[in-house]
Amino acid sequence: MKSMSRELDRISSEVRICTKCDLYKERKIAVPGEGPADARVMFIGEGPGAQEDLTGRPFVGSAGKLLTELLGSIGVDRSSVFITNIVKCRPPNNRPPRKTEIETCVSLYLQPQIRIINPRVIVPLGTPAIKTLMGDDYSATSVHGQAFRKDGRLFLPLFHPAAALYDVRLRNTMFKDVKMLRELLDGREVTAQSIS
Ligand code: URA
Ligand code: SF4
Repeated sequence: MKSMSRELDRISSEVRICTKCDLYKERKIAVPGEGPADARVMFIGEGPGAQEDLTGRPFVGSAGKLLTELLGSIGVDRSSVFITNIVKCRPPNNRPPRKTEIETCVSLYLQPQIRIINPRVIVPLGTPAIKTLMGDDYSATSVHGQAFRKDGRLFLPLFHPAAALYDVRLRNTMFKDVKMLRELLDGREVTAQSIS
């Protein structure tokens, strides 16, 4: 993989053997995330699903296929972005990750990943990732497709691609919303609300 840093490699190795929250008990393979260490964009989902748990790779199932299509629609190659999740191990039955699981995993692994990669844009996918990264006041329904500025970075919250798989209108909304990422990457002046 292009430009993997030794620091990111070390985080991935730790994630693979992590037992710091209960999610380790039922996972098959932990999913640290992947992409270049110098990626300008990080996509952050909710947690590994069945395919991800079997392969150890993020967004390789049907939601991942839609994510790849969304990126393609704005001329972004999937291999140029960093893709990961707020928790690195699959919650049993795809239940939502619990607050304690999220807090543990984010402080141990996601926060260091963000610090090392230092992306210009963070794209939280779905409400759990949006709340975790932007604050409890925010949800996909209320802020999808809008740009925000926080901690010196841009944030572009989107719906979760899994939610759009069987909903044509949500799918169309996602293709519309992702165009804002093209604007941000091209450095065009857009309205971005500053939040703390
Ligand atoms: N859904 C997620 O939130 N993350 C993945 O990696 C796959 C599906
Ligand atoms: Fe460790 Fe995160 Fe997996 Fe919990 S979800 S066991 S904190 S890697």
